[in-house]
Amino acid sequence: MKAIKQLYRIGYGPSSSHTIGPYRIAQYYKKEFPECDRYQVLLGGSLALTAKGHGTMDIIRRVLECEDVSFSFVNDSSQNNMDITGFKGTKQEMTWHGLSLGGGAIHIAEYDVGDDKEIYAENSFDEIKRYLQEHDTDLLTYIYSHEPDLKSHLYECLDVMYRTVENGLRKEGLLNESLKYYRIAKKLNESAKDRDDRLVAYSYAACEENASGGLMCTAPTLGSCGILISLMYYLHKDENIPEEHLCDMLAIAGLFGNCIKQNATIAGSIGGCQAEVGTACAMAAAAIAFHSKASLRTIEYAAEMGIEHCLGLTCDPVLGYVIIPCIERNAMYILRALDCANLALKFKNIKENVISFDSVVKVMNYTGNKLAVELKETSLGGLSLEYHK
Ligand code: SF4
Repeated sequence: MKAIKQLYRIGYGPSSSHTIGPYRIAQYYKKEFPECDRYQVLLGGSLALTAKGHGTMDIIRRVLECEDVSFSFVNDSSQNNMDITGFKGTKQEMTWHGLSLGGGAIHIAEYDVGDDKEIYAENSFDEIKRYLQEHDTDLLTYIYSHEPDLKSHLYECLDVMYRTVENGLRKEGLLNESLKYYRIAKKLNESAKDRDDRLVAYSYAACEENASGGLMCTAPTLGSCGILISLMYYLHKDENIPEEHLCDMLAIAGLFGNCIKQNATIAGSIGGCQAEVGTACAMAAAAIAFHSKASLRTIEYAAEMGIEHCLGLTCDPVLGYVIIPCIERNAMYILRALDCANLALKFKNIKENVISFDSVVKVMNYTGNKLAVELKETSLGGLSLEYHK
């Protein structure tokens, strides 16, 4: 399995696969061919279908620092491919064939970006449990011994997460003209009375900030950023929980997200929203159970429930913007993550879980493959169509 660090990437919204991924491909290209004065970019799959709503072309122009970028689109690809060719005067540079894999991860056929490096020999949660037993160790020791630089990275991520929520809570007014969407995070926060109200307000703040193209941290994607970010901000601001413990929560959450990334997907364009919001819900549920000092078995149960009750969740963002249904959905699923952790804790002396975490991930993958392409971040079906009626 790859590094957990890759699940928490810092970059600009509104979409890890449609802004951070293309941003990174363009950034590497510019570093390699810094002299170009003109570019041609070909976008495929969901990148082609929802580039406008996601602001993909703007972010590419921004990183290339060039207005002379011509775009073409191939809609029949099932992958988020991005080919880029630069020109310096009449001289044509090499074409790079990039892929945005979800969560900001990329692959470039002609260049090694290091995203493919395997850090963990274990590839599933069952294998991890076996390792822990054989080495008589615990999850955190396992994670930090494999990724010694993870904690310092997570501190940086927490910083970005706090700033995101605070920015989102300050702003008011129109967020999106086409959808006539007005920010409501500030109002929600002003009327918040209890923990759940605050989590909802913080989740809205993070997601509205994301939709406006703000600086964000993926968790594990940007579409699903409101779930873990609201949890971290709430524990920091309202409960005064030490940052080191919050880093540990993110590390535990990340391990579950990583297993999903390894054995299914965290990209809405590949597996539907179950892969984004479902994964974030499972990660948050595991983190909350860990925070409640639950056993390994109970943490796994909480994470499993987070996925099980998201199976089949579709990705059909209206007009391609990461706004409807995304923002409301994040607020709902931070509350569902709490439910999952609480239920798992209630069940601990009463019943065993009959579905393992690995099994539900397998089912998530199966379900994602069965989902129609119209319901996988293409804006060709579902809520996207109803909006025009
Ligand atoms: S519907 Fe879900 S997967 Fe799709 S863009 Fe919104 S948050 Fe991401």
